[in-house]
Amino acid sequence: MKIIVAKSAGFCWGVKRAVNMAIAAAKKNGTVYSLGELIHNPQEIKRLETLGIKKIDSINEIPKNSTVIIRSHGVPPDIIKKLKEKGIFIVDATCPFVKAIQEKAISLEKEGYPVCILGNSSHPEVIGIAGHVKDPVIVENENDIEKLPPFQKLGIVCQTTLNSELLSKFVASLSKEIKEMKLFNTICKATKVRQEETRKLAQQVDMMIVIGGKNSSNTGKLYAISKKLNRNSFHIESAEEIDESWFKNIEKIGITAGASTPQWIIEEVIERIKTILKGGETVERGLCKTT
Ligand code: SF4
Repeated sequence: MKIIVAKSAGFCWGVKRAVNMAIAAAKKNGTVYSLGELIHNPQEIKRLETLGIKKIDSINEIPKNSTVIIRSHGVPPDIIKKLKEKGIFIVDATCPFVKAIQEKAISLEKEGYPVCILGNSSHPEVIGIAGHVKDPVIVENENDIEKLPPFQKLGIVCQTTLNSELLSKFVASLSKEIKEMKLFNTICKATKVRQEETRKLAQQVDMMIVIGGKNSSNTGKLYAISKKLNRNSFHIESAEEIDESWFKNIEKIGITAGASTPQWIIEEVIERIKTILKGGETVERGLCKTT
C-alpha cells in the first residue's frame, strides 16, 4: 500500500504570507479583524481565532482604532477608503499576484478596452478586481459569453484559480465574435502547478483524496479535475470525514490539497489513513512532478 502526496499540496506562497502577516499583527496589536474569512478553511479559521484573528462580515463591526487585515484575495478600493475614513489600521495581505491583476485591469481600461474578468462573480478576488474598473463584465460560463453585448474589442484577465482548460474554451468562444482581444493569462502559477499535479497523480493511483475547505474555490477545482480522471476521488475538509470502506481493493492512494489547506490537516489525514491501514505503507511526497 502506498500513499503519494502531491509535492505542491497545501498552502501557497500568498496564503502562507497572509496567515503569517495576520499572526504577526495579532501579536503586536491584539485582536486583528479579517473582513470575511482570512482563508477558505474552517479548521484553520478556528485555530487562527485562538491566536486573536477574528472574522467579521461588515466594516461596521470593526471598532475604531483597531487593526484589520486585507485577505490575499484583495478588496475593491472603496473598502480601503472606508477603512481609512474610520481611522482603522490596515495590514494589506493582498497577494502581489492579485494586485498585479488589479493593475492590469486598470491599464486595460486606460487603453480603451472594455474589461472582462473570467471567473466566479461572487468570489472575493473577482469582486476586488472588478471594483478597480468602471464597467467590467464577468464571465463565469459559456452562457455568459452568449449574453455579452457585441464588443469590438475586449481586454481580458482571469481569476487566479481559473481552470486552464476553461480559459482555453472561453477564449475560443470569445474569439468567434470579437475582432480584437488583449488577454492576460493571470492564472497563478501555484494554481497551474496544483492542477497539473492533480491531473497526473489522479491517473497514477487507485484513489484520490483532495483536502480543503468545501468553500475553497481552488480546492473545488482540484476535486473536479481529480473526479474526472479517477472516479474514486473524495473531497474532505478533515481526517474525521474519511470512511474506512473507501479503502477496499486499493493499492495506491493519492493525496492533494488546496492552496488554503494547512500542513497540519494534511498530516492528520495521512495519520488517519495509516491508522485505518494499520501501518506498513510508505508515504512519498512529490512523485508526481510536473516537469
Ligand atoms: S493562489 Fe496564487 S494568487 Fe492566490 S494567494 Fe496563492 S500565490 Fe497568491
